[in-house]
Amino acid sequence: MSKYIVTSALPYANGKLHIGHVAGAYLPADIFVRYLRLKEEDVIYICGTDEHGAPISIKAEKEGVSPQVIVDRYHQSIKDSFAGLHIDFDNFSGTSRKPHYDLSQQFFTELLENGYITSKITQQFYDEQEARFLPDRYVEGTCPHCGADGARGDQCDTCGKLIDSITLVNPISKVSGSTPVIRDTKQWYLDLPKFTPQLKEWLETKTYWKENVRNFILSWLNEGLIERAITRDINWGVPVPLEEAEGKVLYVWFDAPIGYISSTIEWAQKLGKPELWKEYWLDQNTKLVHFIGKDNIPFHTIMWPSFVMGQNENYIFPHDVPANEYLNLEGDKISTSRNWAIWVDEFIKYFDGEYLRYVLAANAPEKQDNDFLWKDFQNKINTELNNVLGNLANRVFSFSKKHFDGFVEKPTQLNELSLSTLKQVKELTKEIDSCYKEYQVRKAVKTIMDIARLGNRYFDEREPWKVIKTDKEAVQETIYTSCEILRVISVVMTPILPNFMFELRKIMGLTTNAVWTELDASPYPIKLDNIVQIFHKVEDNQIEEQIKLLQENSKANQEAEKASFQDIKAEIEFDDFLKLDIRIAEILTATKVKKTDKLLQITADIGGKEIELIAGLAKAYTPEEIIGKKVVMLLNLKPRQIKGILSQGMILAADDGDTLSILTAHKDVKTGSVIG
Ligand SMILES: [Zn+2]
Repeated sequence: MSKYIVTSALPYANGKLHIGHVAGAYLPADIFVRYLRLKEEDVIYICGTDEHGAPISIKAEKEGVSPQVIVDRYHQSIKDSFAGLHIDFDNFSGTSRKPHYDLSQQFFTELLENGYITSKITQQFYDEQEARFLPDRYVEGTCPHCGADGARGDQCDTCGKLIDSITLVNPISKVSGSTPVIRDTKQWYLDLPKFTPQLKEWLETKTYWKENVRNFILSWLNEGLIERAITRDINWGVPVPLEEAEGKVLYVWFDAPIGYISSTIEWAQKLGKPELWKEYWLDQNTKLVHFIGKDNIPFHTIMWPSFVMGQNENYIFPHDVPANEYLNLEGDKISTSRNWAIWVDEFIKYFDGEYLRYVLAANAPEKQDNDFLWKDFQNKINTELNNVLGNLANRVFSFSKKHFDGFVEKPTQLNELSLSTLKQVKELTKEIDSCYKEYQVRKAVKTIMDIARLGNRYFDEREPWKVIKTDKEAVQETIYTSCEILRVISVVMTPILPNFMFELRKIMGLTTNAVWTELDASPYPIKLDNIVQIFHKVEDNQIEEQIKLLQENSKANQEAEKASFQDIKAEIEFDDFLKLDIRIAEILTATKVKKTDKLLQITADIGGKEIELIAGLAKAYTPEEIIGKKVVMLLNLKPRQIKGILSQGMILAADDGDTLSILTAHKDVKTGSVIG
């Protein structure tokens, strides 16, 4: 018996969980773990939220709260969503906790001491308006590889390639919306080329990996690995454990996978056996299986194993990385920003979470992208779960109740049809066993339903409703064989539908925890009790409601965006425009006007002449930020007395309700230049 550590990609703590996440990295892992438990293997299932990185700090800045507030909010929401789907981790931690900081810093230090980290002065985008560096996701632009718009500074979602952020075409700062400049900064790099021979040798042993994963890695290795920065100039994250690196943190992708270990350490501590994690992570016989979406393949098969290779401890390497493809929704890509998604916390308000497990398992995007359709959801629940499996249970149980008071006994002898049916069932369970072993959840579901179909066919052929009049013993045999089929299903379906199968087993009076070995055991006689209908149909109006909700949410989202468009004011003549005297002015001094929180008192050079003015910019800019800036200024507005000062100019600024930004010239034009 070998040990297993199963992990799911750490969900990012900046948003809720949707069905696409579940289908890719969580449900397949939970099913695999439940399968291993059925087989009585020693397995721990480890996860936690990924709590660092720019999207979280950007969101926190927008809301005016600390990143920890964002992290705590979504950690809880994600955890609740998993609970609603019966996805059960042994530990669900988070990467902003102390043990994770300690371990991540240790990983960095050992890589550095072992010669796998170099430092160099590099160039990075810098937002001059905000006076800050713009690492990875703080910049967006056009992908230099495929030309797609909306590529982030670290990766392009369209082609999946990693990007060196300064190669982005038409970069835009996500903080201020301005065009960033390039500045020097010192960063620390993981020397990936040094690991290449060892990585190749290791990956060559992974012939059993899924083809999509192997192809992805091979193309990466063929292109040649390059050094990758593992530090960032932001203030939310694990601090780089070096004095000279003050204000820098470890890149979120460096610290995130280390969370698999730190979460296991937390698990061991909670159990009061703080050393227990070592029996998994340091035992070379432990099988480490990472479930991820396909966008995470390079990090789990190249970067993460490299971190591990550079450590003093002999941590285990990934045994397998069964990455899945993407799930689409109603023919369209799931999109958080367009609100085109089914959120798990919403779903479980309307339906049993296990209905989602069933449909996502039956439709798992294992080899290619797949689609979730509400109509198909309804169809699968009604025609498969209800009409096939539910129907078999209902007719067998109610017949037994009516004629034998629910008492089921094993006959001393079985006839040909019963024997051959049970033999077929046994063959199918072997197939299901290997499906689970090979992460083929779709096929497992299909094969289980084949068993249920076989059960219905058998029941029909035996015609117990006729035979009961003449041969009670034969009917008992029919019920026994049918119950055997249901009992087998209650075991092999447990990884997919743990709670429903628990209910089924309860009716049959079976021990509550299913194990695979009981397939060969015989619990008879059994007494059927508290018979209830396990599955229920999904009605048309329920589906119509969901489709409407989906469309309304997405439409509300679009309208919210459109609502910000204001009608254009009435036309003016060109002469009217010429009346405006707008010039480039340079801010010389700025001080806050006392007893106000909005106003700055400013002196500005308008090209050989100095003027004084009052500007309502203090909420958006400190005096230091604005001094030296060349701004766009309207000069012939009738001077006004504000707070005792004659304001002789007006600085032009844009305001979207969230951000107030002064206007500046794109190129360095002389102070006093006329605008028009
Ligand atoms: Zn691209």
